Amino acid sequence: MLDQYINLLKSGEVVAFPTETVYGLGADAKNPDAIKKVFEIKGRPSDNPLIVHISDKKQTEDFASKISDDARKLMDGFWPGPLTLIFEKKPQVLDIITAGLDTVALRWPKHPLSQQLIARAGALVAPSANSSGKPSPTKAEHVKEDFGDDFPVVDAGETDIGLESTVLDISSEPYTIYRPGAVSAEEIKKVIGKEVVQDSNSSQDKTAKSPGTKYSHYSPAAKVQWISSGDDTTFVEDALYLLHNRPAPQKSTRVIHYKGDFKKMAHELYDRFRHADHQQLEFVFVEPFSNDQLRNPIVEALQNRISKAIG
Ligand code: AMP
Ligand code: MG
Repeated sequence: MLDQYINLLKSGEVVAFPTETVYGLGADAKNPDAIKKVFEIKGRPSDNPLIVHISDKKQTEDFASKISDDARKLMDGFWPGPLTLIFEKKPQVLDIITAGLDTVALRWPKHPLSQQLIARAGALVAPSANSSGKPSPTKAEHVKEDFGDDFPVVDAGETDIGLESTVLDISSEPYTIYRPGAVSAEEIKKVIGKEVVQDSNSSQDKTAKSPGTKYSHYSPAAKVQWISSGDDTTFVEDALYLLHNRPAPQKSTRVIHYKGDFKKMAHELYDRFRHADHQQLEFVFVEPFSNDQLRNPIVEALQNRISKAIG
């Protein structure tokens, strides 16, 4: 089933495929012309580096110049899985991948189809398979929505987690999380016995260490807003409401209530965003999270993506 996609990748074409986080837009990590197509198809700014996806720990040596004991512990503890690690890069890693930085981001995804694809086609760069700025794709249909019906996608239904990987820079200390995801700072700390710093700000800082964090992201055309606190919210018609705790209004139809199931909320968030646009809604209102809820890594990742969608 994968043969045709592997042939495409080997001949320098771009193919979308499922990972356990979101669908990725894959291209041969050794082929600069193929990688250029990824930037063109997505409309991705060239200063936003790509994550290289590999299919075993040994492949790290092709890209990272130094693999520390902490790196090994993290790879043993979380790979394959939703943790991207940033290493000092080897000189031969293509500049188009790293946007000229002296570091490279690596991940071994868990989804069996992504593993087979990478094992057979070689390491792949794979940003999320959406037009830049749009919500990441969690279904093959989302990819086709952005890139057309004929776009090659390995279709494996809905992705499991629904939000992108945790990005952790281990190229210098203190180690820094640039993007929160399903793997939390707490879990990382347990594995390496060191504190990690969080730096996922959405500022326009041109010197951002992780260039992707400075761009607006994950946004539907509808305006995303937090619901203000208090009980006096008037529920308006042309809006989708995403709630998780507070009582739902009696008569509004466009209310999704997660009843504290944040995994489900993460799993569907981007699909709900896209659906709001299909219905041409003007707003998506989201119930804010409490400090207590934010101790859950998935809630922290949700808060990060929703804040970026708000802009
Ligand atoms: P995406 O490919 O859309 O999942 O985004 C990848 C994220 O990883 C972006 O926020 C990038 O800025 C970040 N990233 C990739 N490579 C590096 C790197 N070498 N240093 C810092 N951040 C990186
Ligand atoms: Mg992306």
